[in-house]
Amino acid sequence: MTAKIIDGRALSQEIRDAIRHRVAARMAAKQRIPGLAVVLVGKDPASEIYVRNKRQACKDVGIVSRAFDLPATTTETALLKLIGELNADPAIDGILVQLPLPAHINSETVIEHILPGKDVDGFHPYNIGRLAQRIPLLRPCTPYGIIKLLEKHGERFMQRHAVVVGASNIVGRPMALELLLMGSTVSVCHRFTSQADLEKLVRLADILVVAVGKPKFIPGHWIKSGATVIDVGMNRLADGKLAGDVEFDNAREHAAFITPVPGGVGPMTVAMLLSNTLTAAELRA
Ligand code: NAP
Repeated sequence: MTAKIIDGRALSQEIRDAIRHRVAARMAAKQRIPGLAVVLVGKDPASEIYVRNKRQACKDVGIVSRAFDLPATTTETALLKLIGELNADPAIDGILVQLPLPAHINSETVIEHILPGKDVDGFHPYNIGRLAQRIPLLRPCTPYGIIKLLEKHGERFMQRHAVVVGASNIVGRPMALELLLMGSTVSVCHRFTSQADLEKLVRLADILVVAVGKPKFIPGHWIKSGATVIDVGMNRLADGKLAGDVEFDNAREHAAFITPVPGGVGPMTVAMLLSNTLTAAELRA
């Protein structure tokens, strides 16, 4: 079996086109153009690239993005003050604070300071709580984008075992909640899962989502025949190329569907950020 590639670029383009039309319709109806504040603290090279991509994506669909590039020495108090101002700014529908923040700033405190209705990353405990209680509103972009990808290629969720490897607040945990919401039976593996249990569970997975951040962490021969494999990992190799967390070539021989890296999950994350910003604007209106 050679798995079919799940094309995140194509679906993200469809979603962006739909958003562009909805933004244009708002303008035609003399409604306010959605506004996103993108806050970057410090000069982490990967974060600078992500932020640039997000700002460009806003421009492409007609969403106004306002840049707040702050020095690495910014205090937590100063950042919280800025967020307070953005919370109160009627032209701003979404606030994105690029993570990771410098070590002297507590990211949980910062995230909790964002108004839940402007939390377009979906990381605020209010929004995570809504997802946990099956009443999602603004949903974490990467897991929500993965659900859209799975739906697009006709994935069945009920009576299927979904295994999530990685349990971070931004990917693994909300991913497990999303899959539970879809009706899958969900297992979550993390740092303290034994290697034997990890292998056993991965071999059982009908739907496998891996978000660990270690290249080739999941050997391809563990993949169950006919499984759907979603590789969230983005690892920069010594030769400068990007690789996922799953041993792609070998996994492709066992899976029915698989996401490539790059071109799988990554573009969906940005598309769902735009979608959340538009949703936030519509909810506020
Ligand atoms: P993270 O915060 O470092 O979390 C990694 C997770 O992996 C943690 O939950 C950790 O467990 C778990 N882990 C570590 N060692 C493990 C092991 N031996 N067995 C099982 N689990 C283990 O990373 P993240 O933010 O979730 O990102 C993960 C990867 O996805 C990274 O490569 C990142 O670049 C990529 N990513 C891609 C996108 C995209 O749009 N494509 C978006 C976000 C992230 P503990 O919780 O127990 O520490």
